[in-house]
Amino acid sequence: MADVKHSSVMVVGGGIGGITAACELAEVGYEVILVEKAPSLGGRVARMNKYFPKLCPPWCGLEINYRRIRENKNIRVLTLAQVEKIAGKPGDLDVTVKVEPRYVVPNRDGYDKAIAACEVETSDDFNLGLSKAKAIRYWHDMAFPRLPYVDRTAAADPGVKAAIEASGSDGFDLSQKPETMNFKVGAVVWAAGWRPFDPSPISYLGYGKYADVIANVQMERLASVNGPTGGKLVRPSDGRPAKRVAFVQCAGSRDVNYLPYCSGVCCLASMKQATYVREQYPDAETWMFYIDVRSDRYADFLAKIQADEKIHLVKGKAGQVLQDPETKDMIVMVEDVAKGEMLRLPVDLVVLATGVVPATRDEKIPAEAVAYDEYGFVTSDPKATGVFALGSVRKPADVSTTVQDATGVAIKVIHTILGR
Ligand SMILES: Cc1cc2nc3c(=O)[nH]c(=O)nc-3n(C[C@H](O)[C@H](O)[C@H](O)COP(=O)(O)OP(=O)(O)OC[C@H]3O[C@@H](n4cnc5c(N)ncnc54)[C@H](O)[C@@H]3O)c2cc1C
Repeated sequence: MADVKHSSVMVVGGGIGGITAACELAEVGYEVILVEKAPSLGGRVARMNKYFPKLCPPWCGLEINYRRIRENKNIRVLTLAQVEKIAGKPGDLDVTVKVEPRYVVPNRDGYDKAIAACEVETSDDFNLGLSKAKAIRYWHDMAFPRLPYVDRTAAADPGVKAAIEASGSDGFDLSQKPETMNFKVGAVVWAAGWRPFDPSPISYLGYGKYADVIANVQMERLASVNGPTGGKLVRPSDGRPAKRVAFVQCAGSRDVNYLPYCSGVCCLASMKQATYVREQYPDAETWMFYIDVRSDRYADFLAKIQADEKIHLVKGKAGQVLQDPETKDMIVMVEDVAKGEMLRLPVDLVVLATGVVPATRDEKIPAEAVAYDEYGFVTSDPKATGVFALGSVRKPADVSTTVQDATGVAIKVIHTILGR
């Protein structure tokens, strides 16, 4: 057991993993500071249309956890915040956090009037570049805390100031500056999650070259009612209904040139997305081209997919994606391994099943002793560092595995560092 001086815990990352760990620790009496770099909690789950295996919308899982946070005085949530430094030893860590300005004053009136009046637009990171967004906005429909923010890249734009003045709202303060805060905690839980692999370097798959080749994470936004098309599954290039859709598995994954590991969630994500297409257009047809289907934990879900004769699961690795110059259809070139046939399949839309990259690949944890493998997954012993890696920063994981891991990590923090 560590020589404990501080019984509070910092949890970094406000996705489903970090939220769960924060609630578990707070509900048994520990003080928790939950640090999220986005303007709202919710993480990648908030960007989904539905999540497998039950195919519930994200607010099913998030709302219940938001309530746990609202009802627990032991949790302090810092959004637009990032850890700059962790020093000290397990049980006695000094953590420096930088909080970016939201340019909003809580508990005032007129936020929605200012949003309505705002004509300045910025790129919409929540919708992954598929649309533009107002410079004054909520991060998403289920934003927590329920506060808008002013996009930092446009805070100095005279149009933003004019919109706030026109609304008459007293809820904004464009003079806010970044703030640095220092905390003393017993342990840090790092639940920074993952980012999607960028498939642009795989030139033969046509991502970035053809608008109708998109990534699986973008498909979630296209299918979502709060997404760029209001949930209509249409081709980004011309708005035509996407009724024939090809899912290309392992777009970069299990490939020594890109991500040699399996992300474990992409097969299930594509099968789930095939149901989006089939539900929206009864005459739709989808194909999933795979190396092998990895869905062992969810055999019932696979059986449901296999029962739909318009969803084709085809063993074969896509060799090339082209565009028909006349019809503008996308063409997938692939060998159907079971039949020993070369296919030249015309479709409306190609969805690349890209894998997950740990957040810690690009942004290392600012603590000296923390170690990583060659892909950026955290490998160090938390008992030695006081920093506990949770979920996808340790290993790619679906939601239920992440939630189980969060509970396990909370127990380990209590047993190995805090004592009880
Ligand atoms: C296309 C696709 C579809 C999927 N669909 C499903 C599904 O249907 N069902 C399912 O079970 N799983 C699904 N998954 C997996 C699911 O997305 C993950 O299990 C889930 O996101 C893990 O949650 P998390 O909290 O660990 O990470 P994340 O959701 O990534 O959340 C991490 C949070 O940490 C924040 N953060 C990152 N870095 C920092 C930092 N330095 N400081 C502060 N905050 C930081 C981020 O902003 C984010 O809010 C899917 C994955 C993909 C790729």
